Amino acid sequence: MKRLAVSLLALICAAACSSTTEQQSAESAPAIGRFASANPGSVNTYWLHAPQGLVVVDTQRSLTDARAALAAAGAPIAAVLITHSHPDHVGGVGVFHQAFPNAPIYAATPVDTAIRTDPLRFYDLTRALPDSDYAPQMTYPDHTFAANATIDAAGIQLATAEFGPGETETATAYYDPKTQALFAGDLVADKATPALLEGHSCGWLVDLDRLRTRFPHIRTIYPGHGAPGGPELIDEQRTYLEHFRHLVRAALPDGTDLTDDKMNAITAELSRDYPGYPSVASLPTMSQENIKSVAKEIRAENPATLPAPCRSS
Ligand SMILES: [Zn+2]
Repeated sequence: MKRLAVSLLALICAAACSSTTEQQSAESAPAIGRFASANPGSVNTYWLHAPQGLVVVDTQRSLTDARAALAAAGAPIAAVLITHSHPDHVGGVGVFHQAFPNAPIYAATPVDTAIRTDPLRFYDLTRALPDSDYAPQMTYPDHTFAANATIDAAGIQLATAEFGPGETETATAYYDPKTQALFAGDLVADKATPALLEGHSCGWLVDLDRLRTRFPHIRTIYPGHGAPGGPELIDEQRTYLEHFRHLVRAALPDGTDLTDDKMNAITAELSRDYPGYPSVASLPTMSQENIKSVAKEIRAENPATLPAPCRSS
């Protein structure tokens, strides 16, 4: 009799407790916070609620914006995650570290190396911009993990995936399988003019295909720039890059030179097709620099060995 009662209880619990758990997991996934700095160059900082405190994703470019993001997020901050080494994502690490010195600063090993070596001197370039409010010294990650590892950040298990070279040489996406939330860094932007300065538009297209395959159940994408959205943001990013490559390729028949007139025509067409898309960086010449970098990339491509995602553009 006692055994029957226990079995009944187990049965009831198996039904009721699992639905309670499901309800709890749905209800106990609080909204993810977002701070977006002003344009030009608006960039996002996110925070999610973990058992041990807030987990922050990326830290803004300027010290002023980092302080504003810190104030918006609240406390306690229990971990900081870095998606990639670009100045607009790591400039404010020190602000968060000074406020919460015990919160680990996570980065994948290749991203950590990129921050420490800064091979394209992006941090000095950012400091040299007019009215720059960039950290005079970088604060480095203190918790590194292997590419594609699963990490425990303040009590939340996050799958990570490493990408690049694409938008940048190396980039980490963080995925929460429970909420199906993807923190994409700059692999995906929402309605923004991307940075193509590193000349890996084809690598970026390959990355987007890999992103889809690696995380097929994404519900919400939290991009580095622009508003969060669904998985369609990946398709929109792909279409933008394909269109951009097509315009540049069409302007360079048989390896002809990229003239100012051609660049202006491409810029005008992009402005028509993507009106009001703010630039992800505060660099005034970004549109032209993007075109020059992709032109150089396309000239060096061998159609016979081009990866499949790049062939249609
Ligand atoms: Zn960015």
